[in-house]
Amino acid sequence: MRTGPITNRRSESKTCFENDTLPLSFRCSLFSQGQGFEPESTFTLLDMFIHPTGFTLFHIVLFTKNTYLESMKTNPVFCFIGMLFMSNPALFSQTADESVILDAYLRVRQLTPAVWMHTHAFPWPANGLIVQMEDSSLILIDTPYTPEATELLVQWIENRWGVPPVLAVNTHFHVDNLGGNAFLLKRKIPVWGSDAINGLLKTRGRTARETTLNFLRAMHADSLYFHKHARMPYMPPDHTFPLEEGHFFIFGSDTCRIAWPGSGHSPDNVVVWFPQKKVLFGGCLILSGSRIGNTADADLDSWPVSVKKLKIFPAAVIVPGHGAPAGPELIDHTLELLDEARNLEP
Ligand SMILES: [Zn+2]
Repeated sequence: MRTGPITNRRSESKTCFENDTLPLSFRCSLFSQGQGFEPESTFTLLDMFIHPTGFTLFHIVLFTKNTYLESMKTNPVFCFIGMLFMSNPALFSQTADESVILDAYLRVRQLTPAVWMHTHAFPWPANGLIVQMEDSSLILIDTPYTPEATELLVQWIENRWGVPPVLAVNTHFHVDNLGGNAFLLKRKIPVWGSDAINGLLKTRGRTARETTLNFLRAMHADSLYFHKHARMPYMPPDHTFPLEEGHFFIFGSDTCRIAWPGSGHSPDNVVVWFPQKKVLFGGCLILSGSRIGNTADADLDSWPVSVKKLKIFPAAVIVPGHGAPAGPELIDHTLELLDEARNLEP
């Protein structure tokens, strides 16, 4: 395994937000070139969470496409029809994105030359990142919901790059960030997270699981999800850093910085900043689409204060925990949604 020269050093908490002086970029070039997610896809994905019909159709389409692609490998007739289909630009434009579908629930999409986004819809689409650093080391930010999907993702990474991630990061204590830890720890992939995660799993882990199960009950979700979420192992990271200090990983001249801007979606939500790449993983602190999602562990008063601090990062791409990535405008979008939510409070 090529691990590269990793140096871990702790930061002063203030440096997490006061080191970046480069001018803000107000437009994500990736999206202006039409290569990113279309903004509408946010609403489609999030609506699937709410509407069982859309949700079911989404999985039927994914399953059908996956099965067909598998059939093309073994059946020449399917292969011929598939090639005809793909050679038609009008039809192919529906599927000719950078997505790689790993199974009916898990896909990976390239956002920039060195950054891929993994999205696990189990059942609510949740994002994480695979980031290639300057020395080719790979970092995994957040895991899919389950150990099985995380294993599939790591297998795909190993097939594509020949090595597994050198480390993984959990951005808070919920299952959409660390549901795959059991697999990563079994594979001896170091998992990093704040020292608050373990305590929160102990004090709120059971309630967080119950919240997930209640959402599934409310949407009459497939028993597959219920069964998996009811038994999902919630394992904390095996490498921790003090929440308020954040953490650095340095690979040559390429940096991965973890910072805690304050409470918001949860008390322990951190963001991950890649300054050389101008990519910010906002996790569940940053909102895309039209809903603020699960607020069971949220602090609605502190959330906007924490989000405003993220403006210090001159990000070209901001990736939310759920929904479509975009440019720095996602910060103001998040603030608007939070403002609406606070106004609706009794
Ligand atoms: Zn969460």
